[in-house]
Amino acid sequence: MRMAVMGASGRMGQMLVRLIDESDQATLSAVVERAGHDWIGRDLGQVMGGAARGIVVTDEVAAALAASDAIIDFTSPAVSVALAQAAAVAGVAHVIGTTGFSEVDLATIAESGERGRIVRAGNMSLGVNLLVTLTRQVAAALGAEYDIEIVEAHHRHKVDAPSGTALMLGEAAAEGRGVALGDVADRGRDGITGARETGAIGFHAIRGGDFIGEHDVIFAGEGERITLRHVASDRALFARGALKAALWLDGKGPGEYSMLDVLGLSSR
Ligand code: NAD
Repeated sequence: MRMAVMGASGRMGQMLVRLIDESDQATLSAVVERAGHDWIGRDLGQVMGGAARGIVVTDEVAAALAASDAIIDFTSPAVSVALAQAAAVAGVAHVIGTTGFSEVDLATIAESGERGRIVRAGNMSLGVNLLVTLTRQVAAALGAEYDIEIVEAHHRHKVDAPSGTALMLGEAAAEGRGVALGDVADRGRDGITGARETGAIGFHAIRGGDFIGEHDVIFAGEGERITLRHVASDRALFARGALKAALWLDGKGPGEYSMLDVLGLSSR
C-alpha cells in the first residue's frame, strides 16, 4: 500500500517514516511538510541525517494524494480538517492521529467520512483502546458515588489539554454512566471551587520533560479506590497503530472509523 506521511519532520512523522521503511506491506509514496518549512525541496534521507534516497519533501498535497493509497496525518487540527476533505475527494484513505479538535472540526471531519475512508483516534495504541473499553465497563458497574478523575501527563511540547486520550477516556466513562460528557466534565480546578459535584468527571493535565503519555482513570469511592492506568514508554507504539489502521482501511467502505473498529474492540 502506498502511504504518504503528513508532517514528516514532526515527532510522530519521523517515527512513521522509519516504520513504513521497515514494513513489507507499505511503501513511502510522499512526505509532506507545511509550506515554508526548511525541509521543503530537500532530500528526505539527508534531512533525517542519512544518505540521499531520492524522495523530496514537498508541500504539494494534491500531488502527494495522487501518488498514494493512504495518508497518515499527525499534524494540527486545521490541517487535518482540510486534509480529510481533500483525501475524501481524491478517494485516498486518511488516518488522523492529530488531537485538539473543536466540535465544529469534528463535525466537518464526520462529513468528510460520508464520502471518504477515515480512521481517527486520539490514541492509536492497543492498550489505551482496551483501557477505553474497561473504563466504560467500570463506569457502568459503579454508581455516581464513585468519583471519576482522569489524570494525564505529557511532554512539555504538547499544545492541547486535556489530551485526546483523556477525552476518549472521559467519553467512555460518561457513556458507561449514560450521561453526556459535556454536561459533567470538570476541567482543571483552581481557586475556591466549592465541593465536588456528584457525577462530575474531572480532568487534570501534567506537562513536563519527556513524558510520552500517561493516563490514570481513578474511581474514588468511600473506603476504596480503583485506578486504571496506561503508560506509553515508546512513541513507536502510536506509529505502529496508525500503520495498522491505514492497512485496515484498504477495501473498507466510506466511513469515519475508530481504533476500536481497527482492533475489533468495537461494540457497534
Ligand atoms: P509535532 O509538532 O512534532 O509534529 C507536527 C508536524 O506537522 C510538524 O512537523 C509541523 O511542521 C507539521 N505540519 C504543520 N502544518 C502542516 C501542513 N500544513 N502540512 C504538513 N505538515 C504540517 O507534533 P507531534 O508530537 O508529532 O504530534 C502531532 C499531533 O499528533 C498532535 O496533535 C498530537 O497530540 C498527536 N498525537 C496523537 C497520537 C495518537 O496516538 N493519536 C500520538 C502522539 C501524538
